Amino acid sequence: MNKHALRRADEETFYAVGVDLGGTKISAAVIDRGGQILQQHVMPTLAGQADVMPRVAEAVETVWSRFAAESGGARIRGIGIGTAGQVEWETGTIRYASDLIPGYTGTRVKSLLEERFGVPVYVDNDVNALALTEKYLGAGRNAKTFVCLALGTGVGGAVMTGGRIMHGAWGSAGEIGHLSVDYKGRPCICGNVGCLEQYASGTSIANLMNERLQAAGLAGTRAPLSAKETADLWLAGDPLAGDAMNEAIAALGSAVASLIHLFNPEAVVIGGGVAACGEPLFRRLREEVRRRAMPSMFAGVTIEPACGGGMSGAIGAALQVWEYAHE
Ligand SMILES: [Zn+2]
Repeated sequence: MNKHALRRADEETFYAVGVDLGGTKISAAVIDRGGQILQQHVMPTLAGQADVMPRVAEAVETVWSRFAAESGGARIRGIGIGTAGQVEWETGTIRYASDLIPGYTGTRVKSLLEERFGVPVYVDNDVNALALTEKYLGAGRNAKTFVCLALGTGVGGAVMTGGRIMHGAWGSAGEIGHLSVDYKGRPCICGNVGCLEQYASGTSIANLMNERLQAAGLAGTRAPLSAKETADLWLAGDPLAGDAMNEAIAALGSAVASLIHLFNPEAVVIGGGVAACGEPLFRRLREEVRRRAMPSMFAGVTIEPACGGGMSGAIGAALQVWEYAHE
């Protein structure tokens, strides 16, 4: 916990609770309008072992009650949830969630939490929530139109156009992980082939590396490696890791070039574990995108890391309370 980020509550202003709900952990925070954290709590999701909504309610209850005790009753304006799965945005219902969180599909997240806590609740996809963190605290301070990619276990995406998140017909626009970069490529869980997620997620980078080790007859001595180990080997000059990362970066570069052509953004922001490779990755990626994008459209586009931090999902989730307050 970053103690320097914790502020004392001001009774005259409003605060919001944000929750980032993933397959592994639930992160909750109370923040102010400026995105500063006043309370935070992280707990395991226990997906498949416990019902998810009581866990989410417990996370909200924990940060809210601590905040109430410390602030002398300062007001919580609402709750924002950034969640795994596809969210029917207006109703705050999970239209589809993978087996990462068994039984979650169909959950009425918004109405369940509004009944329980008696304040407005806003529910969106976790990467859309991250894009709000970028809007207020990161890339969005210099750009009204930008694209976010989160390269983690899978690949998530969000599109911000003219300062507003693009939700599509019911909330699932921006599934960039399932943008195909190869129509004859690797099969994907979604039914398509060649999806970006099959090359640029942490899981896929590890697969790309382990396949090469296998082909080189080295699997017995070195495999299976993680994405982090692959990236470390790449940075140390290992040729097989270099080859695996070249494939991941080519796929990512192809997707980013298409996103630039589609949305004419000012910035492309990339977060998640894979982005922790830092500048060597970004330098190679910019070069890859420059070769693939129309020069007129590539000119002036920044490709940069997300503003980051372990609580940025929860912060963005809470920022929904102000972003959508008048809708
Ligand atoms: Zn797919």
